[in-house]
Amino acid sequence: MSATPDRTACADLDAADPLAGVRDRFVVRDGLVYLDGNSLGALPLQTPSRVAAAVEQEWGQGLVRSWMDAQWMDAPVRVGDKLARMIGASPGEVVVAESTTVCLFKLICAGLAMQRGRTVVLTEEENFHSDLYVAAGAARLCGGTVGVVPRARLLDALDDRVAVVMHTHVDFRTGFMHDMRGLSAAAHEAGALALWDLCHSVGAVPLQVNADGADMAVGCGYKYLNGGPGAPALLHVRSSLHEALRNPIPGWLGHAAPFAFEPSHRPAAGLGSMITGTPHILQLAALESGVDLWLEIDMAVAREKSIALGELFIQLVEDRLDNAGFTLASPRDPERRGSQVSLVHPKAYGIVRGLIERGVVGDFRAPDICRFGLAPLYTRYVDVWDAVERMGNLLSDGDHLDERFAEKVAVT
Ligand SMILES: *Cc1c(COP(=O)(O)O)cnc(C)c1O
Repeated sequence: MSATPDRTACADLDAADPLAGVRDRFVVRDGLVYLDGNSLGALPLQTPSRVAAAVEQEWGQGLVRSWMDAQWMDAPVRVGDKLARMIGASPGEVVVAESTTVCLFKLICAGLAMQRGRTVVLTEEENFHSDLYVAAGAARLCGGTVGVVPRARLLDALDDRVAVVMHTHVDFRTGFMHDMRGLSAAAHEAGALALWDLCHSVGAVPLQVNADGADMAVGCGYKYLNGGPGAPALLHVRSSLHEALRNPIPGWLGHAAPFAFEPSHRPAAGLGSMITGTPHILQLAALESGVDLWLEIDMAVAREKSIALGELFIQLVEDRLDNAGFTLASPRDPERRGSQVSLVHPKAYGIVRGLIERGVVGDFRAPDICRFGLAPLYTRYVDVWDAVERMGNLLSDGDHLDERFAEKVAVT
């Protein structure tokens, strides 16, 4: 790459950024460098009034009539259809429900049930812990077992016992991005279903789940989608599987006639059957607001900026902190990297905590990773510059070694 940019050059990049104005549509405190939108996305400016309207008008005034008058009943499908546009699925192929972990449970059980004679859920040991936990629990309850193998050996483990292969598309620790098309094809060749976790992909990288062969997918509402803490998750299943799909947690709102109060479950048409109980209306209002904002954005432009931010971050660390003991945990090739940069350092924990005190919020991932999310809608080039500058100052002060960082806090 070219000469190390200075702060002025970064400010020039911001001035030329086609997404520069979008930052003003978020609440980002002055002086704060927020590089943790991959853990909890920032608050869109339009969200408080939309949530307030759902509370005050729809709930307060409309009361129970709002199930129809305010289209509460349709919200999981309506927001799902909007998300389908973001991930390259068709209308009717996405609903919004519960959390990512619970949606995974439903899809793993449903996948095992659809794949008669096959009992293994195959995944990689590098996968996110919640995904591993719920896979084990779902398999135990639904008559299967989980095969957990190192990423490098996954393809060797694909045999005719495998019902479902579960991947997280972008690795939460390193940002490594899997080849969705290639791995889905490999799963299909072995007769397995491909289940994709899009938590660090949706709103971070362009997605074409149908074209890339995903059979089922889940994704997080509170990270890059900016749907707020505890936002419900997206659940995707390609339409050709809907007929055979059975919800392992059947409930009245996934029934063909919820208000007929029939004694046994008759699944609603299509993906509606995967809904269980009453939707999280207030959280859905916040999520829909975040998704609506995203639908105004050209994902290709967002991706271009996200890559440029990542390249800048890596270049600044390599040029300015070359003797500081960092190694890059993320792929150097931006095509294989999600919207984050992760650095390994023996004192990673103290660095992350020290940076937070200096107004740079990233996060620590055990055992030794400093993780920086680069949400392209509200992260500026100068934020990246300031983050690296403050990291350099912290390391030269030695403040990251202070004993107040010896004890780990509960959430990092
Ligand atoms: C964030 C994340 C989750 C979160 O699951 P919830 O049940 O919504 O809390 C699951 N899987 C991955 C890969 C994640 O990054």
